[in-house]
Amino acid sequence: MPRERLRDLQIERLRAVVASACERIPFYREVCRQRGIAPQDLRSVEDVQHLPFTVKTDLRDHYPFGLFAVPLADVVRIHASSGTTGKPIVVGYTRRDLETWTEVMARTLASGDVGPDDVVQNAYGYGLFTGGLGFHQGAERIGCTVVPTSGGFSERQLLVMQDFGSTVLCCTPSYALSLAEELRQAGIDPKTLKLRVGFFGAEPWSEQMRHEIEARLDVAALDLYGLTEIIGPGVSSECLERRGMHVFEDHFLAEIVDPVTLEPLPPGRRGELVFTTLTKEATPVIRYRTRDISVLHDDPCPCGRTLVRMEKITGRTDDMLIIRGINVFPSQIESLLVGVPECEPHYVLVVRREKAMDELEVVVEANPEVVAQGAAAMEAAAHKVRQRIQGVVGITATVKIVPPKTLERSIGKAKRVIDERPKT
Ligand code: AMP
Ligand code: ZN
Repeated sequence: MPRERLRDLQIERLRAVVASACERIPFYREVCRQRGIAPQDLRSVEDVQHLPFTVKTDLRDHYPFGLFAVPLADVVRIHASSGTTGKPIVVGYTRRDLETWTEVMARTLASGDVGPDDVVQNAYGYGLFTGGLGFHQGAERIGCTVVPTSGGFSERQLLVMQDFGSTVLCCTPSYALSLAEELRQAGIDPKTLKLRVGFFGAEPWSEQMRHEIEARLDVAALDLYGLTEIIGPGVSSECLERRGMHVFEDHFLAEIVDPVTLEPLPPGRRGELVFTTLTKEATPVIRYRTRDISVLHDDPCPCGRTLVRMEKITGRTDDMLIIRGINVFPSQIESLLVGVPECEPHYVLVVRREKAMDELEVVVEANPEVVAQGAAAMEAAAHKVRQRIQGVVGITATVKIVPPKTLERSIGKAKRVIDERPKT
């Protein structure tokens, strides 16, 4: 769709969703009243910036169903996201919401050229987490042969991969990495498998990690993005050009704002992603602050899609570590670790406070050859990592090189940062 027409569609839908939210949800009625804004004041898509933001605590404060716009009788599905603390975020789907979600997930898979002949091994967790069922619906809609393995049970995953001839793998990038490792251990050459493309999302992963996974699994690794609050996976996804994730803008309006001033930023500028759902019936959200950091691009993509693209997420405003006054994003460290040949791409960052000083410890696994060469080689590798961190990030870290398979493997979202500092 030409962008002009898309804009027309968006403003029409924006007005409708704001009108319905204000009519049916007391919270939105009140915040819009306080702002002095009504649906009819929205003349162009840019007017979205006059609407109030929604943040995670607003959803928590109305736990579980306080922000639902429809009675439970019209809700046919519930999903939830646990997050790190407290009560989960709960969202509902009407029948039409499920239809929308299925559609955007089918588009996601189709962006990677997935069709009815594909065997889709879906290793995202099934349950309250949106990953499993989201992919399941999309793949079924396309007519793929869906194998709902869910996460974990790696031996069985390998068996399915080999015996059912899976051509598509869906899971988190960290689980993809751990499956690659299991394959290697079982002596299975990925080239003998039929895997062709992988849809890896739900957690941050660097471009370097992509190359690593592509090499180890012999697949094209595509990124896709989403969050429970907006719909689950299917908010945006990469096409085979891999120049960012196309946002499904007919359903989700994307903005980038400065995370400090909250002023809208134009395409090309890095900031916090904010989404407004344009068609959600059960749990519409207006200007949801995701905390995820990215950049939007609206120049044409060679694939022909006119949808804006968002760059790979480089971090979250709330996972930025401030270590001795220096802003450190875990993704920066991942990018440089994955480029060190002596190390395996399995790592954990531990932050501690010792004598009022913040200390960063980077624990990373060595590859088996380095371990075989002995302690001096391990120490040399640690030194190399330390120097790179110093050079790129500008901080002195303690680097601990550990033997392969020391660190815990994830089957869903990996936990790679352990912040042991006292909460302020
Ligand atoms: P949840 O609602 O529990 O699935 O978590 C959603 C969050 O996961 C997002 O706000 C992001 O922080 C993260 N996330 C999802 N997809 C990606 C992705 N492709 N890259 C980086 N982070 C992602
Ligand atoms: Zn494209």
